[in-house]
Amino acid sequence: MSTEKDSGALDPQLLAILACPLCDTRPPLTQNGDTLVCTQCSTRFPIRNGIPALRPGDALTEDSPATPDHE
Ligand SMILES: [Zn+2]
Repeated sequence: MSTEKDSGALDPQLLAILACPLCDTRPPLTQNGDTLVCTQCSTRFPIRNGIPALRPGDALTEDSPATPDHE
């Protein structure tokens, strides 16, 4: 139940069902600003317009922090 508008925060129920796509154990993710961080491999995934981008190709790496949108 959200009475305040906490922009950027994911729905806790949504966050609860998300899991890292890179880990076989499907560990939970924690939100850190506008990214989701795997609790196991520490891979970060962006949240774009409130939608978590959890495909392996969406993973943010140290080599490409800004993830330009071209594939
Ligand atoms: Zn992981």
